[in-house]
Amino acid sequence: MKKLGAVVLAILVLGGLGYYIAILQMSDVDETLYSIDIDKVRALATSIEGPLPTKINTEAPVGIEFPGAAVITGWSWSPHKLPIYAYQVMYPDGHIMIDAAMNEEQADLGGGASFFDAESYGRMTAALGSARKIVFTHEHYDHTGGAVAHPDAVELLKNQIVLTDLQLAYPENWLGIGFPEDALDEYEPLSYDGMMALAPGIVLVEAAGHTPGSQIVYVRRADGQEYFFIGDVAWTYAGIDQVRTRPNLVSRGLLGEDRARTHAQVAELKALEAENPTLAIIVGHDAPRTGNQIASGLLGNQFE
Ligand SMILES: [Zn+2]
Ligand SMILES: [Zn+2]
Repeated sequence: MKKLGAVVLAILVLGGLGYYIAILQMSDVDETLYSIDIDKVRALATSIEGPLPTKINTEAPVGIEFPGAAVITGWSWSPHKLPIYAYQVMYPDGHIMIDAAMNEEQADLGGGASFFDAESYGRMTAALGSARKIVFTHEHYDHTGGAVAHPDAVELLKNQIVLTDLQLAYPENWLGIGFPEDALDEYEPLSYDGMMALAPGIVLVEAAGHTPGSQIVYVRRADGQEYFFIGDVAWTYAGIDQVRTRPNLVSRGLLGEDRARTHAQVAELKALEAENPTLAIIVGHDAPRTGNQIASGLLGNQFE
């Protein structure tokens, strides 16, 4: 009996340790892993001549739901809503899209959509079609799916879609939802070192971590308002505010993230925001925060 007691105790201890590592463990931030030179970003933002963006619209045509414990290390298991946003950067004479959400079938791959708004998805599809450029915060299908599933996907890829070499380097990250391979054969991805200007007022800043192809999209509006579109560096703003990442089980186990670098990124974003309080950090899947940013006029609530 004594032996059985010891075995049970060992199982409980190991189980507890496993749970702790999988769900609760957070290390200290290694700040040497990531930094953004904001002065350099600002200089690049005006390095391409032309009028700056006047307005940025957003909509989430689709949403999913995860347990909170999967979203942020240390959160409860109760369900947490994750709407899937895309963004339209308006210029006086056209627009650029950041991300493309996904459709209802694609959402089934990750457990199904918690909502799908066909009218909103239709507006996004039209906005993708007429965009001057389409750029992605990263290669995951909840950010690229709407472009992949677009009726003119191959034409978009030829003329408007800007994918980086790192976004295409690891096809497994597309989880089977990608552009036709023969169309990609002729595609020349963007390659840059650290950061590059994409268009007047828009700068791409490398942010490998969540995925190898992750990048932060900086936008400067004509009135001086600045934005960081961070995609999935954190799924909700609390990740930045609390300087916490996804738990090991999700981060390392399911997503294959560089969790330490993602941790350094949320710390850097928090520090940049403290130094630049008007800088608007736009998070990929945070309904209350995005709702507030719409209410305050930082974002418009419908694609045009
Ligand atoms: Zn992602
Ligand atoms: Zn995402």
